[in-house]
Amino acid sequence: MPQFPNIIKSKLPKAGTSIFAVMSALANKHNAINLAQGFPDFACDPELVKLVNDAMKKGHNQYAPMPGHIPLREAIAEKTSELYSAYYNPDTEITIMPGGTLAINATIMALVHEGDEVIVIEPCYDSYVPSIIMAGGIPVYASMKMPGYQIDWSELKKLVNHHTRMIILNTPNNPTGQVISSNDMQKLQKLVEGTDIIILSDEVYEHIIFDGYEHQSVSRFPKLAERSVIISSFGKTFHTTGWKIGYCLAPANLMVEIRKAYQFMVFSVHTPTQYAITEYIKNKDTYLQLGAFYQQKRDYFANLMEGSQFKLLPCSGSYFQCAVYDKISNENDKEFANRVTIEAGVASIPISAFYHKGVDNKVLRFCFAKKEETLEKAAEKLSNL
Ligand code: PMP
Repeated sequence: MPQFPNIIKSKLPKAGTSIFAVMSALANKHNAINLAQGFPDFACDPELVKLVNDAMKKGHNQYAPMPGHIPLREAIAEKTSELYSAYYNPDTEITIMPGGTLAINATIMALVHEGDEVIVIEPCYDSYVPSIIMAGGIPVYASMKMPGYQIDWSELKKLVNHHTRMIILNTPNNPTGQVISSNDMQKLQKLVEGTDIIILSDEVYEHIIFDGYEHQSVSRFPKLAERSVIISSFGKTFHTTGWKIGYCLAPANLMVEIRKAYQFMVFSVHTPTQYAITEYIKNKDTYLQLGAFYQQKRDYFANLMEGSQFKLLPCSGSYFQCAVYDKISNENDKEFANRVTIEAGVASIPISAFYHKGVDNKVLRFCFAKKEETLEKAAEKLSNL
């Protein structure tokens, strides 16, 4: 097709293809085991598939209400109230959305204005900054400190000024596997007191938390909840990342604005899936057992990796294990991740991809949401390095 010259002024001039797509493509090309992108390689519960199928057969195949199927919103209100003692009104404060990424984007598009500053804490999930930029906002970077990837609240405080519109949190954290403590939340509460800063709290891994830690949802802290938007994802909870369904919680005054943006982005989510999840979520074990399920996988992988030269970093939540490889190679993490994919046959994500300046601490991220046999094969190859 001939191209009209100079027709484009890119809105995202610095964005390339997401690292997840790049590493998955490399894994496919070289037939490598894909521990890069965060998705399970095992099936979801056949009961859930049956419920979607049943909903389709029963004829629930037209548009759902814009904010989501009402009984599903009611079920989420009940779950949130039971788990975090926070009540969100299903009519005005809960919206079902097609996945966490879109919910994050809709929130930022609705609430961040031209020139507003948004603080992100690196290493961070790669959709935050492009969404901020598309909204005309300015990303401001705080960082978690190695080792242990703790948030440095005094550093973060220095970044706050009267242009700060939003702070984005993510717990349990992708890529680090760290969780925010209630002490962290108290510090955040103090920091935003007296400001009009909104918190965007990405809690898509809320049920994947280990070692007796409790998920510290911002909804547990009333002084934070009144200014917070929470994002969750059924894709992570029910092993159905390909279904792209999640939800967003926010006080009504914030949700009004988020829905205004969202209705013109997507309008509503796949109807049969909403019917199915409404039924499925009645069994609380479907989400309450998830932490134990993934803790077992984390430990299985860690045991297998004991004979390797990788040093595994602490992982308290999410389905990602970070590992330092400085005993194996001096290469930067992108070169090393590429070589390990091509030569050793295991794909991972280099952590520098989660920093705007590509900070390289010689750390790779491995996804352990995999069958035991996949983890065994991968660990064997990694142990030979
Ligand atoms: N936030 C984080 C931290 C994630 O890791 C992901 C998925 N990789 C998302 C949001 C997006 O979730 P979804 O697949 O539901 O869009």
